[in-house]
Amino acid sequence: MNNPPEMQTPAPLLELRNVQRSYLQGTVKLDVLNNASLSVRAGEMKALVGPSGSGKSTFLNIAGLLERPDAGEVLIDGVDAGKLGRGKRGNLRRSHIGFVFQFHRLLPEFSALENVMIPQMLNGLDRNEAATRAEQLLAMVGLQARADHRPGLLSGGEQQRVAIARSVANAPRVLLADEPTGNLDPDTAKDVFHHLATITRTTGTAALVVTHNQQLALNMDSILTISDGKIISIG
Ligand code: ADP
Repeated sequence: MNNPPEMQTPAPLLELRNVQRSYLQGTVKLDVLNNASLSVRAGEMKALVGPSGSGKSTFLNIAGLLERPDAGEVLIDGVDAGKLGRGKRGNLRRSHIGFVFQFHRLLPEFSALENVMIPQMLNGLDRNEAATRAEQLLAMVGLQARADHRPGLLSGGEQQRVAIARSVANAPRVLLADEPTGNLDPDTAKDVFHHLATITRTTGTAALVVTHNQQLALNMDSILTISDGKIISIG
């Protein structure tokens, strides 16, 4: 008998099944990903750790629909991205996936508020709606008092918190972060991570975070690494 709906575990928002990716280096074929699988559910945060060159960025790029796998499936909120053409794939990425990078990539000529408003306006929201949501998101990362500041007037940690607010501006279902605290001192890294975790839990996003910071990894729901091209759990 099937469980009643409320008893069922929700479907993952991000799922990769048996993903394969090889690169040719000279005449040598390098199997970076070989049947790599993973799923992340709403509100869950998973850490992806491992040495440089182990395939973390490749995996994140494939999960973020920036790169196609040679084989295997990538499902975003249940939608098989491999079955979509280029346009629809781009739409799915823009509407469902948020990115946070090691370097904030904020627009220097615009205020913190505008940096969070712009992706929403590009997505069709009017100025007032975008401003209201941007204010709420900046408040969630503790930056309501800094909304009018340009990035150059903010500290490294504050810039990264604006980048986190921007990454969820269009209410993505999946959040992918590549070394989001890699450029910060340990205390600031902890603070930025705290805000990233709060945003993930309160918005019910599924987050996959590449990090070298063991302490932060330990604060996530599980720790994964890539071994022989496969995703394995190590904590
Ligand atoms: P990580 O993010 O863990 O440092 P990457 O995903 O960047 O690892 O790289 C994994 C391996 O794949 C490395 O050996 C890298 O040199 C190789 N690689 C990545 N991208 C390419 C590419 N476009 N062409 C050839 N080799 C690549």
